[in-house]
Amino acid sequence: MLSNADMTFPKIIDEDGKEVELTEGNYSVFIRSKNRKVRESAFKTLFQTYENFKNTFASTYTASHKNFIFNSKIRKYNSALESSLKPNKIPLEVYHNVVNTVNENLSALHRYVNIKKRLLKLEDIHMYDLYVPNIEAPKFDIPYESAVDLCLKALKPLGNEYLEIFKSGVNDGWVDVYENKGKRGGAYSSGSYTSMPYVLLNYTNQVNDASTLAHEMGHSIHSYYSRKNQPYIYADYVLFCAEVASITNECLFMDYLIKNETDKNKRLYLINEQLESIRTTVFRQTMFAEFELTTHEKMEKGESLSTEDLCGIYHNLNKKYFGEDMIIDKEIDMEWARIPHFYSDFYVYQYVTGFAAANSFYNIILSGEDSDIEKYKNFLKSGCSDYPINILKKAGVDMTTPKPLQDTIDRFNELLDMLEKEI
Ligand SMILES: [Zn+2]
Repeated sequence: MLSNADMTFPKIIDEDGKEVELTEGNYSVFIRSKNRKVRESAFKTLFQTYENFKNTFASTYTASHKNFIFNSKIRKYNSALESSLKPNKIPLEVYHNVVNTVNENLSALHRYVNIKKRLLKLEDIHMYDLYVPNIEAPKFDIPYESAVDLCLKALKPLGNEYLEIFKSGVNDGWVDVYENKGKRGGAYSSGSYTSMPYVLLNYTNQVNDASTLAHEMGHSIHSYYSRKNQPYIYADYVLFCAEVASITNECLFMDYLIKNETDKNKRLYLINEQLESIRTTVFRQTMFAEFELTTHEKMEKGESLSTEDLCGIYHNLNKKYFGEDMIIDKEIDMEWARIPHFYSDFYVYQYVTGFAAANSFYNIILSGEDSDIEKYKNFLKSGCSDYPINILKKAGVDMTTPKPLQDTIDRFNELLDMLEKEI
């Protein structure tokens, strides 16, 4: 309520020299601005406003931790982390693997920062330069029918049965394609046990819309298989598995586009999009996961954390993650106050594991044999009939080892190689 409703932000000067009130909504536009002054002032204004409320945020953050730690203790767990992971039988090493493997590979993110600095031709790179696109967006125009066609080509490695389900889904009316009066924004996959697995899109012929179709159909075909093969009670899948099928499709789709795009600028743009999704999902969310692990552990030991402590921990993490080239502006120290997910303890690491599992499946699907595809389809058919780690393991991806995450970081480096070669 504090950040969503009560807080307001001062006015800043936009690209046209006009005064506009900064909001959380338009911040995401301003931070991508090609005009460096605009993104710098959006950045400083946003976080200075958070800083004005820093003690309130620190006390809500630590109070939420205390509550969570108290509940884990009275239920006789050894730690807050264990109380969060054990109900789904996720071994604690899965969480530690995420943090450790990313820490061992931070040089890849440092390399990214260095390449970004060169691409943007900056003498020094600041935190507010992070979101401006490396490559200017070229015009894509992909009508919906062509997007369906592209998906069918990109998902071909999944075999005929999968493609047939995709095709009949599209023909039978799973998908509500275009914007309409009274229709909600965004894109979703939903439905019930006995209905079609509907897809809601707001399709506007952009390349993102086409990859969103691949993503949402990934969810819907996962639901279709699970509902068809499981009794009602096991037909849903838990969060740990929920984004795997959709991101696998997205990886296959982007890979197909990158391989087949002949326009150099468009190809660079697509490579950059993939890099950004790994950076913001794998590296950024792991930094969040490390932050909340550190603060829980300190408080479990009885330490009390002040505003300065929280800002200090966050500052040092940014320094470690972004490396030597990046100037860690002091405003970023307040960013932890802006992340609502921290109020769902140990939640964000699942974005990383979901992405990593999808990336491993993408490798397996592209280079694997028919039996590997069958195993993948068995994963799609499993719903929540077993614990998530077991379901993924049976399909060929072992989340208790660093391999899936290592594969993802290798892909990140491979994409950086492509980008570096072409500039
Ligand atoms: Zn999704």
